[in-house]
Amino acid sequence: MQFHSSLPSFDPTLAALLQAEEDKQRDSIRLIASENYASAAVREASASVLTNKYSEGYAGARYYEGQQVVDQVERLAIARARVVFNAEHVNVQPYSGSPANLAVYLAFVKPGETVMGMRLAHGGHLTHGSKASITGKYWDIASYELDPHTGRLDYDLIRAKALQHRPRLLIAGHSAYPRQLDFAAFRSIADEIGAPLLVDMAHIAGLVAGGAHPSPIPHADVVTTTTHKTLRGPRGAMILCRAEHAGKIDKAVFPGLQGGPHNNTTAAIAVALHEAAQPSFSDYARQCVLNAQALGRSLQECGFELVSGGTDNHLLLIDLRKKNLAGKPVAEALDRAGLVANYNSVPWDDRPPQDPSGIRIGSPAMTTRGFREAEFKQIGKWIDRVVASTLDDQVITSVAAEVRDLCRNFPMP
Ligand SMILES: *Cc1c(COP(=O)(O)O)cnc(C)c1O
Repeated sequence: MQFHSSLPSFDPTLAALLQAEEDKQRDSIRLIASENYASAAVREASASVLTNKYSEGYAGARYYEGQQVVDQVERLAIARARVVFNAEHVNVQPYSGSPANLAVYLAFVKPGETVMGMRLAHGGHLTHGSKASITGKYWDIASYELDPHTGRLDYDLIRAKALQHRPRLLIAGHSAYPRQLDFAAFRSIADEIGAPLLVDMAHIAGLVAGGAHPSPIPHADVVTTTTHKTLRGPRGAMILCRAEHAGKIDKAVFPGLQGGPHNNTTAAIAVALHEAAQPSFSDYARQCVLNAQALGRSLQECGFELVSGGTDNHLLLIDLRKKNLAGKPVAEALDRAGLVANYNSVPWDDRPPQDPSGIRIGSPAMTTRGFREAEFKQIGKWIDRVVASTLDDQVITSVAAEVRDLCRNFPMP
């Protein structure tokens, strides 16, 4: 048996892959809006002995013995989440953001009933009713879109659509919308049609925790979130809800959708929430927004078009149509230059999702590493150089060298 061997001695192949990924994360400028760098403490909890433990059920009501410690860990994570987000009830067991959303569907809507969310191509998430997702196959979906003139949500249009389709669940939240959401407006629409309001704050949870985005908690019946995006925790999710929905939500997660919770992840969520409760976390959250705005201005000075004309959160959507370019070759060229982003649909894109017209860029990961406005301005200039010369290896190589130099001055956690 190899129980006591270290990873490099027992499995050098896998250990080398992990080292290669670490090198990549250290030497590149990571701009994928959903990514971040988790702290050493979060990763330590995530890799802890809690991975060995089964604990179907909830604290105090488990289906396995030996929960003396696990119950305390789960209660601690819940208590911290309640404080950070000022929530009445929290479930920390969803395996990730998509199952968290599915649990809310399971709790509130029967298959075939109508659900309304933001169209995927306009910034929504797959689980808000895309045809490719189970949510678009089992439920009847009515999607709302952005205003074509402003690139922003128009709450009168959403209201009209809601009155027309009368969804049994209204969803607010996004993966690629660069503006703040008006949760009070969503609340009043939900009240008018008598539907519960789900806010999916996966992308903005860290901004909400740090006070850099209004909180959905006072307005929503249920709030889902991943824990690994701006919140900077382990890969996982939470559902926060009003006390009246607690039983329904808990039952939907277990036994409705899942078996045993990932206790190692629960522990790491508790650590991430402890970090989010520190004063420095507000500085990080504010800086995410300032950095995204600085990058936006730098890109606009270079002639780039941004969906909605800018950002008030952590992400930007570059519309490459005016430059007659597609997103995918640009994203690939940026990657070769050490600037890692993703291609993305823009609203009213005439290109397909596998080869769309946009690039999505986010500030959280490099903000965690200590980048400020000056570094993000420079990123805008590099993006411009690469986009102007996607096929010029000399330009790409020289940008890549400059990127590596800058990264050396900002150690990763
Ligand atoms: C990322 C995201 C999810 C899904 O999270 P996974 O953990 O990838 O399943 C759900 N909703 C929104 C809005 C997201 O951005």
